[in-house]
Amino acid sequence: MEKHYGIAVSPGIVFARALVMESKDLVVKKVPIDETDIPREIARFEDALTKTRAELLNIRKKIASEIGREHSEIFNAHLLILEDRTLIEEVISRLREEKLNVEYIFSDIIEQYSRAFSQIDDSYLKERTSDVKDIGRRIIGNLMGRKKETLAEIKDQVVVVSHDLSPSETALMNKKYVIGFATDVGGPTSHAAIMARSMEIPAVVGLETISSEVLDGDIVVIDGNNGIVIVNPDEETLSEYKTEEEKFEAFVQRLDQVKELAATTLDGHTIELSANIEFPSDIDSVLLHGAHGIGLYRTEYMYLNKTVFPTEEEQFMAYKTVAERMGNMPVVIRTLDLGGDKFTSSLDMPKEINSFMGWRAIRFCLTRTDVFKTQLRAIMRASVFGNLKVMFPMISNLSELLKAKEILAEVKQDLKNEGIEFNDTIPIGAMIEVPSAAIASDIFAKEADFFSIGSNDLIQYSLAVDRVNEKIAYLYQPTHPAIIRLIKYVIEQGHKCNIMVGMCGEMAANPSHAVLLVGMGIDELSISAAFLPKVKKVIRSIKLSDAQKLVEECLKLTTSEEVSGYLDSKLLPILESIEQ
Ligand code: PEP
Ligand code: MG
Repeated sequence: MEKHYGIAVSPGIVFARALVMESKDLVVKKVPIDETDIPREIARFEDALTKTRAELLNIRKKIASEIGREHSEIFNAHLLILEDRTLIEEVISRLREEKLNVEYIFSDIIEQYSRAFSQIDDSYLKERTSDVKDIGRRIIGNLMGRKKETLAEIKDQVVVVSHDLSPSETALMNKKYVIGFATDVGGPTSHAAIMARSMEIPAVVGLETISSEVLDGDIVVIDGNNGIVIVNPDEETLSEYKTEEEKFEAFVQRLDQVKELAATTLDGHTIELSANIEFPSDIDSVLLHGAHGIGLYRTEYMYLNKTVFPTEEEQFMAYKTVAERMGNMPVVIRTLDLGGDKFTSSLDMPKEINSFMGWRAIRFCLTRTDVFKTQLRAIMRASVFGNLKVMFPMISNLSELLKAKEILAEVKQDLKNEGIEFNDTIPIGAMIEVPSAAIASDIFAKEADFFSIGSNDLIQYSLAVDRVNEKIAYLYQPTHPAIIRLIKYVIEQGHKCNIMVGMCGEMAANPSHAVLLVGMGIDELSISAAFLPKVKKVIRSIKLSDAQKLVEECLKLTTSEEVSGYLDSKLLPILESIEQ
């Protein structure tokens, strides 16, 4: 039995057999062969191609039926590479000439192909590099007799153990089978962690070496409450965790009792409690946990796992579904926020050294106005089916906000000319997640109908701490004096201009931090649905006047540790009573 400590990012306790994902390349040895071995090597290669093709067709079918046809399209590109005659003939002719094992020859050719693709001055072809590498890895796996399940092929319950998980891989996970995950890298606000919370599956990240220490089939316990992973637990530990799991389930059920109630403090101050979603299908959990609206719909997830952009019609259908299912409740649709740790093969975004600070989100949309306008048209068309608001991410400069509004006005004019209905007074919000926007929020507030503070990015940019890097996760401090001052300032500036200020970053899901935010005057907290009941209970257990005093005291303190310690000392009894 081994115990590993990491960062708890999604609560709950589960145990199951491990499925270890191979994210790193397989090591291929160079082995000389005899002339007489050549036919056998060719036969092995053909066999591997046939197996790979069958696997891909299977996965494509499974994804199309279980997750949606649009998610399966990525495999069409893989199938095309598999059928490329030039590639196949090159492998066979080099086999004959060089007399080396086929996996070595093939991996060498794949290496050359991907290098060549990445250097081509055509963004579409450049983007195909990752497809070439993916398919290469799969064929080599089959040549080496490795039969690996992929996330889409799993047929029974597993805990996924991986070096890393991209948001697109996480989006492919079927919650029915993947009941938890553990990764070497990542931080509390990396998007795989955020997805785990949305999917309500326990997860621990930042475990550093877990993917090389666990073997397929090992029994793994994921303790997402305490950030612990146990490999091959003994009987006693397993039964302790079974009891913990039951207790946690009962606790979650008790919490849901507040779902019909408002998030009103003991002295009568009400906060809007909304949920964050990535897909329209998340609405079930949003309604189950009693959200008052959607404070952040991360629409970029619709663009992941795609080889072409989602069309206006596809987007319209998704936004309409969300609008209709939420009825009168507000729904904030955030426009495309690609980049950072969210990439897609359908957009020609170059790999950047500093992707979180690069050509992303609104910066991308303001250049690719074709992509932006398609999304805005879909949002506006859906706006008559519910209570929609639109919000722009990563605003760092007033001109970006003004330009985005101008493009929205053009879209509205086009729709008018075409006689298509929309809500002409749809509220327009700006995310405050870049320090420049926070510091100049007095200026930005005059141009927005509401603010939503994106604490995930605001903390990363203000403290210069990469939100996905586990090595510096200890520096990622929501209670840093700089952060609490900055947030308080943004709320005050928004209120001076009579606009609503919410927070949709993960900080809002921490009950103590939520109390601090309430004390600062925040109007709305938008968090993963599963966290709503706990935060609601805390808000219902405090007085606004006490929360305000707490803020005053915290502002006198000088370090994040002092602020957190002070919050603990004041709020622990309340938090403990909630857990009863
Ligand atoms: C944020 O930055 O706080 C936020 C809510 O957006 P995302 O996590 O998608 O970057
Ligand atoms: Mg953000």
